[in-house]
Formats: sequence, C-alpha cells, structure tokens
Amino acid sequence: MSAETGVDGPGIVIVGSGTAGATAATTLRARGFDGPVTVIGAEPGLPYRRTALTKDLLAADLSEARIALAKPESWAEKKIDVRGGVRVTAIDPQARTVTLDDGSALGYRALILATGGQPVRPAWLNDVATLRTRDDALAIRDRLRESERLVVIGGGLIGLELAASAAAHGMQVSVVEASNRVVGRVVPPVVSDYFASLHASHGVRLRTGTAASSVDAARVQLEDGTMLVGTVVAAIGALPDVALADSAGVSVGPTGIEVNASLATDVPGIYAAGDAAALPDLRTGQPARGEHWFGATDQGKAVALSVLADLAGEPAPSFVDVPRAWTIQYGVNVQMVGWPAEDGEISIDGSVADGDATVFTHVDGALVGAVTIGRAAAARAARAEITEALALGSTV
Ligand SMILES: Cc1cc2nc3c(=O)[nH]c(=O)nc-3n(C[C@H](O)[C@H](O)[C@H](O)COP(=O)(O)OP(=O)(O)OC[C@H]3O[C@@H](n4cnc5c(N)ncnc54)[C@H](O)[C@@H]3O)c2cc1C
Repeated sequence: MSAETGVDGPGIVIVGSGTAGATAATTLRARGFDGPVTVIGAEPGLPYRRTALTKDLLAADLSEARIALAKPESWAEKKIDVRGGVRVTAIDPQARTVTLDDGSALGYRALILATGGQPVRPAWLNDVATLRTRDDALAIRDRLRESERLVVIGGGLIGLELAASAAAHGMQVSVVEASNRVVGRVVPPVVSDYFASLHASHGVRLRTGTAASSVDAARVQLEDGTMLVGTVVAAIGALPDVALADSAGVSVGPTGIEVNASLATDVPGIYAAGDAAALPDLRTGQPARGEHWFGATDQGKAVALSVLADLAGEPAPSFVDVPRAWTIQYGVNVQMVGWPAEDGEISIDGSVADGDATVFTHVDGALVGAVTIGRAAAARAARAEITEALALGSTV
C-alpha cells in the first residue's frame, strides 16, 4: 500500500515520454508521491533530448546513451515505469482507464497528456523528409552524408539549425522561406536580419519571400521557376498531437488541448502539458501554445504539482508561463524570452552585428520580450523583468 496515497491500485499515468512527460514523472517522485507512476511513449526507448537532433547533425553523437534525458537506471531507481514503443489508443474518462496498442489496459487516478506535436506535412510535401524524432534525424543524416547539397523548406529555428549543421560541414545549403524574413514568428526584424547575415557569411543561400511550387525528396521548384537540387527537408512548423484527447471528449481548440492555468483539462482527472497543451496566455487569457524545450519542461514540473495538489484536496497552483527558448547556430547562443516579436519599440544593448547584444521589445513602456545574442545570462534578467511587468510571481 502506498504511504502517500493510502490506497493500492491505479496511479498516475503519463502519455508521452518527451520532456514534459518525463519531467512530470520525476517531479512526482521528487515531491514524494510514492504510488505507481507510468510513462507511456510511442517512440522506442527511454526519454531523450529532442533538442540535440538539429545541433551539428552531421557529426553529433546521437546514440541513445548520449542524448538520454537521464541515466537509464534512474527510471527504475525512482520506480518510474517507462514503457517505450507503446501507444495509448483510447481513454475511458468514466472508468479512468487507458488502452494501449499492445492490447493491455491501465487504470489511472490522474492522467497527464504530454503528447507533444507532429511536423506539419501537407500533401504537397510528397516524400520530403521532416524532422521530429531521433529516427527522423538518423534517416536525414544518412541522406546528407551521401549528398553535397541540402535544401531546407522553412526558415524557422529548426530549419536554420539544420542549415547551420550542414553548412558548417561544407555542404551547399539553400533555405526557402515563404515570408519575407526568417524566424519571423519569434524574433523582431533586426534579429531576423542577424540570422540572415550569419547564414550568408557561412555560404547559405536564403530565399525569402518565395514559396516552393513543387517539391520532392531531391528537388524544390520555386514560384519563379528556379530549381534547387539536393536532399530536401521541410521544417514548416508543428501541430499539437490532440487526437487522443479529442477522442476522449477533452476540450481541444485550434491551438491545442485546452487547459486552465493549473494545466487541468475540462475532464476531471485529465491534465495536459508541453507542446500539446494550450494554456491561457498571461496577457490575453486566450489559449496559447509554446513549442519550446524550457516551456515543456516547466509545464511538466507544474502539471505534477497540480496533480498532487488535486489528489491532496488542496488548491492547485497557477503556472506562470513567460516563454523562453534558445537556439545555437554556428556556436552562437541566442535566447528568446517573453514575446519579442510583438509590434513594439525595439532597443538594443551591445552590437547585433558583432553577435553580442540584447534586443529588447517594449510595448507601452513595458518590457514584453527580449532576444539575447551571445549573452545567455542576460536572458534571465530580462525574463524576470517581464514577469514583474506582468505583476506576477512564479509559482514553479
Ligand atoms: C529537432 C528539434 C530541435 C529542437 N530544438 C529546440 C531548441 O534548440 N530549443 C528549444 O527551446 N526548443 C527546441 N525544440 C522544441 C522542443 O524540443 C519541444 O518543445 C519539446 O520537445 C516538447 O516536449 P513535449 O514533451 O511537450 O513533446 P515531445 O517532445 O514531442 O514528446 C511527446 C511524446 O509523446 C509521444 N506520444 C504522442 N502520442 C502518444 C500516444 N498516444 N501514446 C504514447 N505516446 C505518445 C510522442 O511520440 C512523443 O515521443 C526542438 C524541437 C525539435 C523537433
């Protein structure tokens, strides 16, 4: 019998073994929950660092041991049952059970959906590769090693990291971006320009403001008729994995699985965290979804605290989610905090051209976002200031 819960029987089941799910599991244990904790992950193996997949892809050691989120033995030591290569296919919220694709079923007291996301794959992509999993990365790497050219569709963070990986190894790289600047959703124009010149200085040919009109795994034809040849990889965004939640009657909106500030869904006993979850935006209250490592990790921690509070009959804490993300390209560390792409007043401390700067975004006199280039530590201070400006204190 569990000393913490006072009952035998179902424990906490987590769907998804990414950072949100894995962090939720370890936080439950760190906070003293001693009932059963089961993490079910559709990908084979143990939880790993997805962020490693694009950093120096051609040379990086992507062995399971190298990119593991935690020492393999630590899961058993913490009595966390991680089941890799198994998918949850159905949830029965009344009976509080989940069905697995190995034919088994599992009861739960609380269920955490940490199902992450999937690359956007419109039909026009045909057989073009996309990158989300370790298997995807290994397959892309095999192809790149036999190729001299890479064509990336999509100038977001993942596309640019991939481009940097290949350019740093002497490959000829083109990046096609439909909008008129790269990483436009997350950074202000001055930082887009910085990324563009950083890539240009490494020989990458950026084609912004033009869309691919026809593509396959080995070539991209642009709207103006230009043909780009090479290994083609598309990185045009990700969609939250909401099908399971939806089928269980959990509220799902266009942004993801809708949760309150404590990461609880509208179905009792079911919670969501990470890239799949849409939380109330701190400024607007509207459901908003992040797609960044720190956010998913922070939410994994926060959802565990909410579950424990609910099980104990105590008020669940609110999660304060001022976004933070990072990227590394050609060895330059860039951090983004808050909402730096907002339409606001831009000010710069340092020199963007020299790769040593903080770019601040103020709206109505308040700091809403910042991007640090080559100064990771400054991001922390900026995030604290944004949090303060929102008149909120972090509960995690
Ligand atoms: C290549 C790449 C590089 C990145 N680099 C950075 C970076 O440098 N900085 C940054 O801030 N962010 C980065 N990100 C984003 C970051 O990795 C994600 O935000 C984070 O991994 C999200 O974690 P998650 O646990 O919510 O979801 P995921 O990591 O997607 O994990 C969800 C897991 O749930 C599993 N699953 C889904 N449905 C089921 C089911 N029904 N049954 C069982 N399992 C299921 C999936 O297979 C998956 O393994 C990167 C992302 C990618 C793809």
